[in-house]
Amino acid sequence: MDPRRRIPRTDDLLRLPAVVAARDVLSAPVIRSHIQAVQEAARSGDVAPEDVAEELATRLNQAQAISLTPVINATGVIIHTNIGRAPLSHAATAALTRAAGYVDVEMDLATGLRSGDRGAGAIRALLAACPGAEDALVVNNGAAALLLATTALAEGGEVIISRGELIEIGAGFRLPELIETTDVDLREVGATNRTHVADYVRAITPRTRALLKVHPSNFRMEGFTAEATVTELRAVADEHSLPLIVDLGSGLLTHDSALPEEPDVSTQLAEGADVVIASGDKLLGGPQAGILLGTAAVMARLKKHPLARALRIDKLRLAALEATVNARETPVHQALHLDPDTLRARTTALADEVGGTVVEHDGRVGGGGAPGFPLPGWAVELPAELAQRLRTGDPVVLPRVHQGVCLIDLRCVPATLDREVAAAIRRAQGAA
Ligand SMILES: *Cc1c(COP(=O)(O)O)cnc(C)c1O
Repeated sequence: MDPRRRIPRTDDLLRLPAVVAARDVLSAPVIRSHIQAVQEAARSGDVAPEDVAEELATRLNQAQAISLTPVINATGVIIHTNIGRAPLSHAATAALTRAAGYVDVEMDLATGLRSGDRGAGAIRALLAACPGAEDALVVNNGAAALLLATTALAEGGEVIISRGELIEIGAGFRLPELIETTDVDLREVGATNRTHVADYVRAITPRTRALLKVHPSNFRMEGFTAEATVTELRAVADEHSLPLIVDLGSGLLTHDSALPEEPDVSTQLAEGADVVIASGDKLLGGPQAGILLGTAAVMARLKKHPLARALRIDKLRLAALEATVNARETPVHQALHLDPDTLRARTTALADEVGGTVVEHDGRVGGGGAPGFPLPGWAVELPAELAQRLRTGDPVVLPRVHQGVCLIDLRCVPATLDREVAAAIRRAQGAA
């Protein structure tokens, strides 16, 4: 008998459980095209007729997956921009689902009228967590927040910034260049390593509209350095009736004992900033967002600027941000405050299981906070050639490759995934 006669017919394939399940996520024409492709592969001899059903199920599965691949972060770097920065908490993840359908994001359900307080829940949560702020606004990301603050407060004029704070935030994007795309001129003062209050005072002209202080969130300057503090700049700003903008980056709302030198929003407001800018997906541990906290007067100016509409954030991230701030306990916070004894015990158990060596290994905050600040811990050291196999395995495990070895740091790995990491390493070793 011709083996091609054993190829399952379309009607039979359509009844397979895998195909019925796929109907929830794939359209009928897409499913039919996969069926035809597998039947064609069977006719040309690439797939055995008895393997058609299984091959079809595999292809439908692959077609359903989004192109983003989940990654187990075994680098020890908590905020890693290349893998999506902060992983969301369970509360924030649940909030995404809750906000996915129709929601009253801009409607007062009691009256049925438009409410105009989009983001009110997230703003309430932020103000409760950051008592020094009178009002808040949330936009697309930190860069958008800076764009909005400088444009709304200084359009047609100048903003004064220290030469030591003209930072590149990553992938070739520089804050000064971002601001130069607007109708705002940057007036640079001081030297790379030292800027004094007097430098700001001397630079003030009738065109000056604001003072800007940017936290060097991804590098450290040591040695012969000086900068003007927020308190000092407040005094200058008061004398000349100028607003003071502080771009913090990191997103710590209040002081965190694990990062003694990292500035936080509350402190900067208390010291006199009119508006502080922070990212949602750095140390705050939430979704991508640009958070602006400050005085009611400044916030009102920002809210009514047309750019605020262009930079606005969607309901999904507003929901995730509100949940993040209300729950406080985030994977980022857990990784930062991990009990060293627990980390050591987990690392030792992993090394026992896969045959690696336990070595001292500092974790890092990573992008947008506490540059150079080590988080003492441990890692399992393995041969470097395992790294590529781990990155391309299933699940994907991303190790740190450093000085010719592959390091598995469990700091950012949920303890519930330790067994999966061990299994992935054993598979990678087996493939050698
Ligand atoms: C990260 C960072 C930004 C940019 O924020 P995004 O949310 O990535 O757009 C701006 N300023 C500082 C100081 C930062 O650390």
